[in-house]
Amino acid sequence: MAWVKVTFPKWRKEMRSVQWGPLYNEFKEADLDPAELEAEISMLMQDEDVTKKAGIYIYVLSREERHLSIRAFTDNQKREAYERQTGVCPVCKEHFELAAMEAGHITPWHAGGRTIAANCKMLCKEDNRRKGGV
Ligand SMILES: [Zn+2]
Repeated sequence: MAWVKVTFPKWRKEMRSVQWGPLYNEFKEADLDPAELEAEISMLMQDEDVTKKAGIYIYVLSREERHLSIRAFTDNQKREAYERQTGVCPVCKEHFELAAMEAGHITPWHAGGRTIAANCKMLCKEDNRRKGGV
C-alpha cells in the first residue's frame, strides 16, 4: 500500500502482522510526519517494557497504549511493593491481603516510568479499578 510506504518508509518485519487497512481508513487524511514517526518507532522498539512490537505502529497513530502490551509487574515485584507498603493501600489507607491487591505504575509508562519494583504500587482492587488500572 503506497500510504504505508510513504508514512513508514523504513521496513521492519513487525509490519507484516499489522492490519493496515483499518489504519489507512482512519488516518489517511491525518497530517503525519514520517521522520517524527520513525524516531518514535525506533525509541519504542528499544523499550523493553513494550512487549508487543507490532503494536507500535498502531500506537503511534491511535495513541492507545493497550496496543503496546506494556510489561506487567512480576509476582516478586508485587511482593516487594506490598512489603514496602506494609499491605496498606495508598489511596484508601486500608490494609489488604496481597491477593486482594493489584499492581500499578507509580509513574505511568507514558511519563517515563519503568516496570521495576521501585515504580510499583499495590492498590486495593476497588481503587485500582477506579483509576482505570495500568
Ligand atoms: Zn484502596
